[in-house]
Amino acid sequence: MVTTLADLIGVLDGAYPPRLAESWDSVGLVCGDPDDEVSRVLFAVDATAAVVDEAIDWRAQALVVHHPLLLRGVDTVAADTAKGALLHRLIRSGCALFTAHTNADSADPGVSDALAAAIGLTVTGPVDAKPTAAVDNWVVQVPRTHTDAVLAALFAAGAGGSGNYHECALRVPGVGQFRPMPGANPAIGAVGELQRVDEDRLEVVAPPAARSAVLAALRAAHPYEDPAYHVTERAALRSGLGLGRVGTLPEPESLRDFTARVSAALPATVWGVRAAGDPDRVIERVAVCGGSGDSYLSAAARLGVDAYLTSDLRHHPVDEHLRTDGPALIDAAHWATEFPWCAQAEGIVAAALPGLETRVSSLRTDPWTVSSTD
Ligand SMILES: [Zn+2]
Repeated sequence: MVTTLADLIGVLDGAYPPRLAESWDSVGLVCGDPDDEVSRVLFAVDATAAVVDEAIDWRAQALVVHHPLLLRGVDTVAADTAKGALLHRLIRSGCALFTAHTNADSADPGVSDALAAAIGLTVTGPVDAKPTAAVDNWVVQVPRTHTDAVLAALFAAGAGGSGNYHECALRVPGVGQFRPMPGANPAIGAVGELQRVDEDRLEVVAPPAARSAVLAALRAAHPYEDPAYHVTERAALRSGLGLGRVGTLPEPESLRDFTARVSAALPATVWGVRAAGDPDRVIERVAVCGGSGDSYLSAAARLGVDAYLTSDLRHHPVDEHLRTDGPALIDAAHWATEFPWCAQAEGIVAAALPGLETRVSSLRTDPWTVSSTD
């Protein structure tokens, strides 16, 4: 069976939904025709010139990367610009470029799950969990003669869905009552007389975006002049999606040993792995954030973890953090903390599209190339 670029995009968007991307980000297909056939896919953190060379030399039809090549303020991809030249070479070679960036950071599993797994953590949840999707809960009273008709109308308007389940509802039998007053035009009974009617109390969920449609459907299908209903919003709960991960080591160990563990688990870089804190501090619960994670220093401290592993940490935020007895900090090369994601993405694609040849680029795209300790 022929695999197209559209098939590959479908798998990647399923694993790393674009809706999870931060608002400033740019993710998805950068170049390539979704109708083109794909047989070889290369995975990397960055679309550097060397990585593009590797994709073309290997005759890949798609290069999947984490970092966007084009993020903001792009008004030319001319071949005499650095990034434009790469795009021209990719297009001429029939190789698509696809980015999964902050959507891959927040997905479950995502970038920080790959990092956590590489260093042997058992993950318990995100550092900065995204709230679950907003949901309305509708409670409607309906005379039993019209229960099925009202339910069908609510479902048709978008209510009753919950994950992979449709037409979900609760119906509770009861007796409703009302006394129509002068001016009313009751469907049942007469003005001034108390009516008791066999009714069902229905409960259905619906997305808030469908609120107007659900109300219109309810009014149209319900026999009463003034249907009884109320709508409540479910409280926002923490989901398993979001940036960073918290987890536990198999056994407590010193910060010195933990730093050595991280260094052994991640690919070698000139940047290396360094830690801030007492080398003998005992580390068991750990927060990790692949990529630049200094904005989550306080979130990691609030979680009460023993250590926080991320990259691109700066002097003053680290100094301030240590003065408040926060977790020990481990700083690794940005590229190294995200590199484990490449194998995760490759595994997801290979499992879903077994006809493809896949490969993770072994090129080190960390920009730092020289160390005085080399
Ligand atoms: Zn990054």
